[in-house]
Amino acid sequence: MSEIHERPPVDRKARLKIPAQHIAKQAPNARINNWSEVYLPLNLETARVEAERCIQCPAAPCQQACPVGNDIPAALWKLEHGDVLGSAEVFHGTNSMSEMCGRLCPQERLCEGHCVVGKNAKPVAIGRLEAFVADARRHESPPPVTPASTGRRVAIVGAGPAGLTIAEDLGSRGHHCTVFDAWPLAGGVLRYGIPDFKLQKEVVDEWLERLAPLPVEFRVNTRVGEGESITVDGLLAEGYDAVFLGHGASVGNPLEIEGAELTGVFQATEFLSRGNLPPDALPADMRQALFVGRRVVIIGGGDTSMDCSRTAVRLGATEVTLVYRRTEKEMVGREEERQHAREEGVKFEFLCAPVRFLSNNSGRVRGVELQRMELGPPDESGRRRPQPVPGSEFTLEADSVVLAIGYSADECVPASAKGVVYDRWGILSINRETGETDRRGVFAGGDDVNGADLVVTAIRDAKIAARSMLAHLEALELRPARAAS
Ligand SMILES: Cc1cc2nc3c(=O)[nH]c(=O)nc-3n(C[C@H](O)[C@H](O)[C@H](O)COP(=O)(O)OP(=O)(O)OC[C@H]3O[C@@H](n4cnc5c(N)ncnc54)[C@H](O)[C@@H]3O)c2cc1C
Repeated sequence: MSEIHERPPVDRKARLKIPAQHIAKQAPNARINNWSEVYLPLNLETARVEAERCIQCPAAPCQQACPVGNDIPAALWKLEHGDVLGSAEVFHGTNSMSEMCGRLCPQERLCEGHCVVGKNAKPVAIGRLEAFVADARRHESPPPVTPASTGRRVAIVGAGPAGLTIAEDLGSRGHHCTVFDAWPLAGGVLRYGIPDFKLQKEVVDEWLERLAPLPVEFRVNTRVGEGESITVDGLLAEGYDAVFLGHGASVGNPLEIEGAELTGVFQATEFLSRGNLPPDALPADMRQALFVGRRVVIIGGGDTSMDCSRTAVRLGATEVTLVYRRTEKEMVGREEERQHAREEGVKFEFLCAPVRFLSNNSGRVRGVELQRMELGPPDESGRRRPQPVPGSEFTLEADSVVLAIGYSADECVPASAKGVVYDRWGILSINRETGETDRRGVFAGGDDVNGADLVVTAIRDAKIAARSMLAHLEALELRPARAAS
């Protein structure tokens, strides 16, 4: 029998006749009553047959479209032959967090959107297969072995996908990594943004448990930045050999209109964190019970707004309305998320924008005054600019309002790092080929260089930076030897 990794030519015509396998989901009326993931677990037989639908095209457009370049045909070949852990290792070779990306990536515009099978049929369900094998790896593969220490120390600011990828890559090579994070638990948006019905927290916890043998230390509840007791300059002065900035884009954009300060008007991250996590996982000032009420209005049109609206449904709201100033065509998020939201009863109000929030007698929001919009010529993003329609104001009653109108990066981090260049939104400037900032020894990646983006692009950036950081650390080791010769 040939080795699994040898891939002889396949009978493409026969493979194209294999029907797409049913990828089961929880029914909407069931899932709104729980926090479990929408997709039900795959079984091995279904996964193998679905993997066999891959026609193994040599050009692998799916791989080309994957930001981390996962060798999808090779991984699916192993899976169809029953080598689940081998398949997972192929994914893990380029992606430290396959279980997250398999669940969260917008596959319809990445791998699956470029799948050749998808030209005439459903594309191969690459995302679900990636998650399936990665889950098996997490449960069945032995954890990494503890490497010999190199004596080098790396500071990582931010325990999101970018920072954690650096910790895994550098820690597994024996560099001691200290990960600083402002929140009480590691995970970044994987924990404090993305709701359980997209990614169970236990997946994040189990991923973190596998880091235990590595020289990775977490210092949580610890903010780094200008005005804090720990600064980036201070970390370098203290003797860290390199610093990685992976602090994301976690500052919710404000909406500066009347009533924005009312009780019951939430930023998305606070709403999602308090709605999805137990109090002991939250910072002390966010532990009070969350009152959502019956009618919830969500402002915004991206994936975060879908997460907020579906969280509101699960928190018991019966009238959840998502307000977006353009039309559905201009929405940037995943169509699947909108479909899930609709199935769960979320209503959409397109072409309208909030004018002010209305207060009741005790300073709590009671409604939103909205104005109808029409689309004018395209703006700098290429999307048609919304313009108010005079005299079209109307009111939506609301017990709570959630603002999900985008994120900026926290400027206090680069402000504490002399020589690191950033723009007025806090976005860092880096060399895209090395991940290095303008300050030698300081690297960055993820949402703090891209703006709010994707888990997979944060991992891609971290992989690039990790390679340069390894070279940087090795060069430090060589220096004394060179001086002696
Ligand atoms: C609600 C929501 C839903 C999303 N859904 C998806 C999805 O379905 N699919 C997808 O691909 N992407 C999704 N994203 C985007 C994705 O989560 C991010 O692109 C990704 O997490 C970025 O990773 P990161 O490591 O750069 O930053 P983050 O995940 O933001 O992690 C940054 C970490 O840095 C910490 N930090 C910040 N400032 C400081 C400081 N001064 N000192 C110390 N620590 C600090 C933060 O506490 C955080 O833990 C979503 C984002 C949100 C907000």
